[in-house]
Order: sequence, then structure tokens, then C-alpha cells
Amino acid sequence: MPYLDHAATSPLLPSVAELLADDRIRSLANAGSVHRAGQRARARLDTDREVFCAELGAEPREIVFTSSGTEANNLAIKGFAMRVRRETDEWPTIVTDGAEHHAVLHPVEYLEELGAPVVRVPVDRVGRVTVDAVRNAIDDLSGPFLVSIMHANNEVGTINPIGAIAAVVHEHGGVMHSDAVQSFGKMTIAPKDLGIDLLSISAHKIGGPRGIGALYAERTIEFDPQLHGGSQERDRRAGTEPVDLVAGFAEALRYWREHRSEIAGRLDRLRTRLLSGLRTIDGVIVTTPSDDALSTILNITFSDAEHLDGEGLIVGMDIRGIAVSNGSACTSGSMQPSHVLASMGYPPAQSRAVVRFSTGWSTTEEDVDRGVEGMREVVGGMREH
Ligand code: PLP
Repeated sequence: MPYLDHAATSPLLPSVAELLADDRIRSLANAGSVHRAGQRARARLDTDREVFCAELGAEPREIVFTSSGTEANNLAIKGFAMRVRRETDEWPTIVTDGAEHHAVLHPVEYLEELGAPVVRVPVDRVGRVTVDAVRNAIDDLSGPFLVSIMHANNEVGTINPIGAIAAVVHEHGGVMHSDAVQSFGKMTIAPKDLGIDLLSISAHKIGGPRGIGALYAERTIEFDPQLHGGSQERDRRAGTEPVDLVAGFAEALRYWREHRSEIAGRLDRLRTRLLSGLRTIDGVIVTTPSDDALSTILNITFSDAEHLDGEGLIVGMDIRGIAVSNGSACTSGSMQPSHVLASMGYPPAQSRAVVRFSTGWSTTEEDVDRGVEGMREVVGGMREH
């Protein structure tokens, strides 16, 4: 079955599945225990943490393992805001954009309900946040502020000029957070060179296990924990360290580090093939930009979207055994228009009739070809009725 939904979750890499089944990982003790078995678990955790340090150019204390990318975003945004609030009695301003994942939008809305001022910057037609838009938003701010702008968008794949944005944020004295869940591992990211203070990542988008993510936090940035309990992760995230899941995440990252250029070349070729195939289907509008976008995501809508059933496009593909997705949440059975496409200026019908094709380590040319043919049939069938 062609699986073209890697941006939702990538299948476990074989080397990760093998490692997780290995007795040496399955029998790891509690990394907080004093006995030798505990020390072995601690040593494994330390070794695995080093892979992230090497990838991000970070120190071990700058990596906080979390249960997910969602938790990393919550820890960065709410943790920073609550620390400022506790120390100064004032909320910091939160600056973000409307094309973020819900794991950023919703923590920000929560803080707004509690009284934090929020500034939302617009995105352009391809879902990109420009440096000027951020500068305009922060020029007149007084007091501490956090800017949260994603590295690469999960629906359309657009990559933001994150280094240039971070430079402006720092010029104005702010703190820069970026959700890099979609880009991490697939491309190199050096937060210190880019000026990113807080960076969220997740394992299951690169063939690692679900239920494990991490927050990179530059060592001078202070934030409050969002889980209170034990003193794990240097008092910043309580809870027994999931040493097995960290091992799986580290193994996935090792794989990408070793094979990145080869996989990138293959994914670029698959993207070209998918794009030229989709362009032969009548009425297709490609919403993913041709430059500065992930090679793993292609998002389309249709010129006659008002006559198409958005949910039917995805279901029709599924009936043909092809897994694709739209970016929108399905609430009480009715499909909501994609907030990302809406923020890019697409009308509701086109924001509803979206299909996201996303590729990854296991995608083949045949998957892509069948995806294109399936799409042609589904949309053709819908137009006949
Ligand atoms: N941020 C982005 C951009 C994502 O694509 C996702 C996953 O869909 C998340 C955050 C959430 O990550 P996780 O599934 O690890 O909670």
C-alpha cells in the first residue's frame, strides 16, 4: 500500500525496530537507580544524548527529553512565559503566526486566556513568515517577549528564514523558539549559528518511536518545568527517563546523519516525479512553494474546489489503498478547512479540498506513481457525479 503520509508519522526504521527489540535495550533499568543496572541505563542515556549534541552543536545540559514535539512546544512556550510571570509579575508578549501547528497555536491561546499579550504575524501566499513581518510586530514591544515561528510547515512544507528572523528577535532583546518537528534530522539545523534559543524536535517524523521528543534550550534561557515531580532532566522535566525510547530516537538520528545526503537526493527525485505527475491532473493548484520548502511535502488544492468534497478526496484515496492526508483536524465528523491554507489567503473551499502527499525513508517511485494515478481517478470520479 503506498504510504504517502510520512509527515503524520514515518514508519519505524528497521534499525530502530531491531534495537527496540534487543534485550540490551529491553532490559535497561531505571537511569535514576544507584545499582549497577541503573548506572548502565544512565550511561546509555548519556551516550544517546551525545548524538543530539553532535547533531545540534549543543551541550548535554541543553537537551531536555520530552514525551513528544507537542510537549517540547508546551515546555518552551508556557515554561518561558510562566518563568517571566513568576519573576516579574508580568506576562511576556508572545509573537507567533497563524500557520503554526496546533501544538504551538493552542499553548499560545491558553496563555492568552490567562492574560498574556499575543501578537500574530501574517504569513505570505506560500505560508512563509517574512523577516519584515516579524520586525513590524516587535518594533514597538516593551518588556520581555518570545517569538515562536516554525522552521518548516507541516502542511505545505514551507521553510521559514529562521536565522534572519532570530537575528531581528535578538536585536530587539527577545527569545526565539522554533518548532522544527518536520525538518529535524532531514536537514542539518545548528541552533547556535541560527540564533535559535529553544528548538522543538520529535522522533516519529524520522522513523523513530512515537512518544519521544526533545527540547533544545540554550543554556542561559530560563523556563519553568511543566511537569513537577522528580529531578530528572536537571529539574526541568520530571518523570523516569524513557531510556529505551531515547535509544530509538538516537538510533533514528544516527541513521539520518549517516545517510542524509543519499536520502535527500532520493527524496528530491521523488518530489520532482510527484510534482510533474500531479501537474498533469486537471485543476491542480500546488500550494507548496518551489523554493525553500521541504522535499518531503507536496500540498495541493483544486481550481474547482467548491465542487469537490474535501473529505471524499482523502477517503477516495484510502479506498484505493493510498494513505495521504489533509492538514485539517476532523472535528465531530465535519472536516474543517485547513487553518494553514486559510492563513495563506486561500478561500474556504480551497482550504477544505486539500491533499498533502508526504514522503520519507521508505517511499518508492511506485508509491509516488500510484499516488498520482489514484488522485487522478478520485478527482475525475468526483467531477463525473
Ligand atoms: N509540530 C509540528 C510542525 C508537527 O508536524 C507535529 C506533528 O504532527 C507536532 C508539532 C507534534 O509532534 P508530536 O506528534 O511529537 O507531538
